[in-house]
Amino acid sequence: MRLSTKVLVIGGGPAGASAARFLAGNGVDVILLERNPFFAKPCGGGISLGVFDELHIPKSSIKKVVKAIWLISPRGEKLEIEMKGVGLAMVERKEFDAILRKEAEAKGAQIITADFKGVTQNKTYIAEADSNGVKHEFSAEYIIAADGINSKTRTMLGIKPSRSFFTESERIEDINTDACEFWFGSSHAPLAYSWVFPAAGGVSIGTGTFQAGAIKALFNKFKERKGIVSEGQQKVYRIPVWTGDLFNKGKVLFAGDSAGQVLPLTYEGIYYAMKSGELAAQAIIEDDIEAYRKRWKARFQKRFLLMKRLRDYFLKDDASAEKLVALHRRPEIREASLRLWIGKDNSKDSIMSYIRLFGKFLH
Ligand SMILES: Cc1cc2nc3c(=O)[nH]c(=O)nc-3n(C[C@H](O)[C@H](O)[C@H](O)COP(=O)(O)OP(=O)(O)OC[C@H]3O[C@@H](n4cnc5c(N)ncnc54)[C@H](O)[C@@H]3O)c2cc1C
Repeated sequence: MRLSTKVLVIGGGPAGASAARFLAGNGVDVILLERNPFFAKPCGGGISLGVFDELHIPKSSIKKVVKAIWLISPRGEKLEIEMKGVGLAMVERKEFDAILRKEAEAKGAQIITADFKGVTQNKTYIAEADSNGVKHEFSAEYIIAADGINSKTRTMLGIKPSRSFFTESERIEDINTDACEFWFGSSHAPLAYSWVFPAAGGVSIGTGTFQAGAIKALFNKFKERKGIVSEGQQKVYRIPVWTGDLFNKGKVLFAGDSAGQVLPLTYEGIYYAMKSGELAAQAIIEDDIEAYRKRWKARFQKRFLLMKRLRDYFLKDDASAEKLVALHRRPEIREASLRLWIGKDNSKDSIMSYIRLFGKFLH
């Protein structure tokens, strides 16, 4: 059987579900394929609270609102930052993604549980998918590839995979925290940080590195440093490294992790996936693909470049990470960071004031 649609969205995570919701909400015919509606993406699940109003996401998906961040330096200096007026909402990804897909469905998107297998192009795109051994075909004028870091769409179209950052994470049930903890130190998180975030029934802990072979040992070193002996289910998963060069190939538009849109330094991707899904959808509605690249760059390019430079400077060694934590003892730096990162203040003033404060470290 072949189904025809204006837009086929591949992947029902934050990027795909947001794109489908936006398209359907604007009266566009859209089908979304999700291969596993029960997929629980390994993820800290931290999203700036303000994003829920900005993107009209049901707040019923929030499990906890965190009002404090801890930065722990490589030497063990702890800085507690209170988030006044802003906060981090913690979500459970299996439930959160399902709510986003339900929202898309309520607006009129057709959601189909099927595994995308391949695509060919004739007058339209013809995509193949498998649903419990049954083959489906879809004909679409546009495709939004929102199939994550392992994007099959990307491979099928001959685009090389993005460079990866490797993470290992675990749920631990006999520990609790009310803060989002960021632990710096090259012994367990070179060029990165390790984290302890509140999560349902305990905490989510994890660490990251660019060296695939080192991740297990680094994760164990972090647990040792933090003094965690209990064991949960450990998961290794990749995060794409942002390069900013992939938006579309023909009428296939890439959004979220499939396009590598994860913020350097914080490795935050949920908001950018949802926003990119919407921007890609908007460009399709206007039948102006280039508008996607233009709007994304106008809105996020400076922030992504800034975060990349800060990461390369402050996370390059322990002495620099020590400096990063120490600098955040200054109220003006704390406020600028919260405004830019948690408050999602994208104004030129906010970015310029940040650049002024960190100017001497940025090359
Ligand atoms: C350990 C870890 C912790 C993180 N913590 C945070 C955090 O706290 N805050 C934050 O903002 N970001 C965090 N991120 C990043 C965030 O998880 C991603 O950036 C975000 O999920 C990207 O959304 P997406 O929709 O692009 O991709 P995904 O969430 O990966 O969704 C892709 C979807 O496509 C589906 N799919 C894939 N292939 C196919 C196919 N062939 N056919 C049909 N469907 C398919 C998948 O099942 C999935 O549902 C973290 C990442 C990791 C690995």
